[in-house]
Amino acid sequence: MSILETVKTWVKHETQHRAAVVQVRTLQGVLRHITLEAESFKHMTDYAPGRAVSVYIDGATQRVGRKYSVYRFDATRGRIELLVHLHGRGPGSAWASLLTVGDNVWLRGFSGRVTLDLARQTHWFFGDATTLAPFAAISRAAQGRCEGFIEGDTRIASLLDELELPFTWLDQAGGKASRQPAMARMLDLPTPAAIYIAGAAQTVRAVQDILLFERGLDRTSVRPKPFWG
Ligand SMILES: Cc1cc2nc3c(=O)[nH]c(=O)nc-3n(C[C@H](O)[C@H](O)[C@H](O)COP(=O)(O)OP(=O)(O)OC[C@H]3O[C@@H](n4cnc5c(N)ncnc54)[C@H](O)[C@@H]3O)c2cc1C
Repeated sequence: MSILETVKTWVKHETQHRAAVVQVRTLQGVLRHITLEAESFKHMTDYAPGRAVSVYIDGATQRVGRKYSVYRFDATRGRIELLVHLHGRGPGSAWASLLTVGDNVWLRGFSGRVTLDLARQTHWFFGDATTLAPFAAISRAAQGRCEGFIEGDTRIASLLDELELPFTWLDQAGGKASRQPAMARMLDLPTPAAIYIAGAAQTVRAVQDILLFERGLDRTSVRPKPFWG
């Protein structure tokens, strides 16, 4: 672990965990569903739906970290589940695609501010393949109505069905520019609602700007977080 990471961990009182991969499967060839188990997970207290862990993808060396959101957390069994997008362009994606049962994984957590807004009864989501884990966790825990758009190719459409998520597939239309800003502009949004925006940084910024500056939504109702790009 680098000196900076050590200091961060010390300041945030975060514990390093060594977990074992107990289950791993590939969904629609595009997502890796990873289940990790560690005795120390049973003592993690600061979980909230939407939070993430920092995984050291270089293992015990602990220098190269990537953030992945928690899909499910079971403190009783000491289990954390992740959904990692296999985009095929980076070491995190390669790490996830190669994991097998019995491998060790080092991580720390929890972190992240795009968590369930307990004050709202209606929840709207804008995201992509990387946001399925946090949005699933938030919508599972939310009281009231949950809707939203997840952008991607046809495999993402199948994933929404397979994982039984309450979101609408937005066709990525051959990898061209995101259609989320256009949807944010014309959507008949319920109010008041909590609006969660995550995924590709450029899209998150564009959707956020439209909601805040063009549509005049209250800042307190919008929860944006760029995940990548
Ligand atoms: C709080 C938080 C929570 C997150 N939760 C999740 C999660 O649950 N699941 C998940 O899959 N990701 C999640 N991410 C995103 C993930 O951390 C990034 O996608 C990360 O960059 C992946 O690392 P990498 O080594 O694969 O690619 P990098 O080395 O970071 O990037 C290599 C290249 O790939 C591109 N790239 C990175 N990610 C993607 C992508 N998803 N699609 C297309 N191109 C990409 C980059 O722009 C760059 O050009 C989260 C990020 C944050 C900040």
